[in-house]
Amino acid sequence: MPDELLDRLRRFSTDYFPQYQAQFQDLVAHGQHPSTLFIGCSDSRLVPYLLTGAGPGDLFLVRNVGAFVPPFDGSAGYHGTAAAIEYAVLALSVQHIIVCGHSHCGGIRALYAEPPPDAPHLRSWLDLGREAVLPVQPGPEALRRTEERSVLIQLERLMDYPMVRARVERRELALHGWHYVIEAGEVNVFDVSTGRFVAATLAGHSGTGPYAAAGPEEPYFNEIDPAWAPVGHREAGG
Ligand SMILES: [Zn+2]
Repeated sequence: MPDELLDRLRRFSTDYFPQYQAQFQDLVAHGQHPSTLFIGCSDSRLVPYLLTGAGPGDLFLVRNVGAFVPPFDGSAGYHGTAAAIEYAVLALSVQHIIVCGHSHCGGIRALYAEPPPDAPHLRSWLDLGREAVLPVQPGPEALRRTEERSVLIQLERLMDYPMVRARVERRELALHGWHYVIEAGEVNVFDVSTGRFVAATLAGHSGTGPYAAAGPEEPYFNEIDPAWAPVGHREAGG
């Protein structure tokens, strides 16, 4: 039986690596200095390098089910995504953090179903998206809105990381909320000024997260259409 993975590894060494050899060796000699932390769903159809045109050394990547950001609680534990956020901000000094959800997300759809009983970690992980759930039947439109609302919730949770908040308020770090529509080949970027996601092909920027455009004292949900704001912020958003 052919070993397809082995074939691909060999192809990397013989066909692809030579094209990038100088770049990789430079990245080893001088270290990595990625400008961007990309937090994306693990979905195989989401290909960050294709979307962003990034190459070696460009993206510090974290992927998990749903593109969720765990809360900053400072507790000891095996918090892979939280550790990556701390490392990207404190050690790598990234200037951008992208949270990228996508259409047809199984993690978001699972919020409307009972998770498998033998998946305790998945069950608790999905809690990080529950605030995005709408009190409706999960049709295509509701799922799309849930996916987008979840992106906003994760951005907001990012702002609870002290090192993120401090840098965003100093304008050293920008947060970007993206929703990738797989079948359309379009990334919709969150526009804080309108509280809407807008197609990147029509947008004037690559997605403005919570505090990149607003002053540090201005809660960004004030300007968001209440229909799009996460449930917990509708009242506060006034
Ligand atoms: Zn997904």
